[in-house]
Amino acid sequence: MKWTQIDVSTGSRTQLVEITGAVADEVGKSGVASGTCHVYVPHTTAGLTINENADPDVARDILADLARLVPAGGDYRHAEGNSDAHVKATLVGFSAMVPVIDGRPALGTWQGVFLCEFDGPRRRRVLVGVAGE
Ligand code: ZN
Repeated sequence: MKWTQIDVSTGSRTQLVEITGAVADEVGKSGVASGTCHVYVPHTTAGLTINENADPDVARDILADLARLVPAGGDYRHAEGNSDAHVKATLVGFSAMVPVIDGRPALGTWQGVFLCEFDGPRRRRVLVGVAGE
């Protein structure tokens, strides 16, 4: 499988950045008509999720609930001071697989792929690999 990289600049400490278009571009460039698209975030304080991209309040609500579940000022030992970001990234995970059908990511009508920034703003990398059947 050939892997390519998407560069993402995030704009705040926590943010869901939609990368659906960039992922679809990589699928298109791969020439694969039927297969799988793997998306991977090689970071420890950013993750990846697939969720609704129609109503931006959904992303806002996800971030708000993660902040409630994993407070920034928790009882942490990690000296870097960003343990909440590490915990949130582990909760959402670092990868996703999207089926490729007819040369496109077969996402649901309301689904988008999001880089989840938990310790920004930073420059982040996302790896995309597309494999045919
Ligand atoms: Zn850290």
